Amino acid sequence: MMKQIYLDNSATTPLCEASKKAMCAAMAQYGNPSSLHTLGAEAARLLKQSRTEVGEALGERFLKDGQLLFTSCGTEATALAIQGTARAKSRRVASTVLTTDSEHPSVENNLKLLEKEGFRVVRVPTRGGQLDMKTVEANLGSDLFMVSMMLVNNETGARYPVEQIFAMARAASPEVVCHCDAVQGFLKVPFTARSLGADLITLSAHKIHGPKGVGALFVSERMLRERRLSPFLVGGGQEFGFRSGTENMLGIVGFAAAAKAGAQSLRTSLPHLAALSQKLRAALEGSEIVLNTPPVTAPHIVSLTLPHIKSETMLHHLAARGIYVSAGSACSAHAKGPSSVLLAFGLDSAAAASSLRISFSAENTEQDVDALCEALTDGLGTLVRIKH
Ligand code: PLP
Repeated sequence: MMKQIYLDNSATTPLCEASKKAMCAAMAQYGNPSSLHTLGAEAARLLKQSRTEVGEALGERFLKDGQLLFTSCGTEATALAIQGTARAKSRRVASTVLTTDSEHPSVENNLKLLEKEGFRVVRVPTRGGQLDMKTVEANLGSDLFMVSMMLVNNETGARYPVEQIFAMARAASPEVVCHCDAVQGFLKVPFTARSLGADLITLSAHKIHGPKGVGALFVSERMLRERRLSPFLVGGGQEFGFRSGTENMLGIVGFAAAAKAGAQSLRTSLPHLAALSQKLRAALEGSEIVLNTPPVTAPHIVSLTLPHIKSETMLHHLAARGIYVSAGSACSAHAKGPSSVLLAFGLDSAAAASSLRISFSAENTEQDVDALCEALTDGLGTLVRIKH
């Protein structure tokens, strides 16, 4: 069988051994954590341990009740963060939301819903992968209700200075709620809940070698104390009343094991990821391929634009050689037209339609990069070019 080289780790990652092992063991444990008998108590203990492990991966060793809420995915965690904060809003407070023009659809589409309810949403331009500070500064002030900004962009790899923006927003408006979609940054760039300074942090298991269909929302003590978050999914009151529904125990246990393993190997995985992307960048430097490199970049994502070759054409050429990459993001595959994120980065629609995203995991090797470069070079020489 042809060797498969998976370079689409921002779409999803393979399950790690620790996650597989933990889920296999948890399959025998079918108790409902809300049940009062022994089986329920065992499940509740496993749930608590999982919560602690994900909290520790965020640098939070002593979580208070309600500070780490398990959800069905990153998208749901963000919906809870944005809709839950908007619902808890008292009439008096401000109604401007500051975000970027390159957020994941799970943020952007939730903010569109707020716009329909009368909120004013300001999207900070991210040309070249850099936040436009003039727009940020012009919108700080007493009307600021929420800042929702991603830590790492899923298409370009841009690492935005969210800590700085949150601090500036708080200084201008102490009441502001700061939300960070850290799905692509978790265990890829160093941060803790404290260092980010966010009130709400979205995480997703399947981007860190955990299972699909489970995510989490970190909630600051202040949010809980000031009752700034309302539940989004109501029912039996699980997850401290913020997210009803019997817990996805297998998913949660798998998530926690992946987070624990990922946090333990950060010291080796981060430099390894950086070495892989540096090797790729160095190999493509001076070629016909243009690298779309933001000033500060996460180590696992490389965005590139091909010379007059459609993304899909190269993607299939690579896939035929067992190399899997992405044209934009997996989520934008459902959207029609060029990626709005790449347009926001400054690419024109032709360049955006000729772009690929390579995303590494710590499981990739230097040989994988060599194979990719060889297949790209081969494609440049043989594939049909678009005439403009
Ligand atoms: N936020 C970002 C930046 C993402 O890349 C993704 C997944 O692609 C999500 C949120 C959504 O996570 P999930 O697939 O768990 O809903």
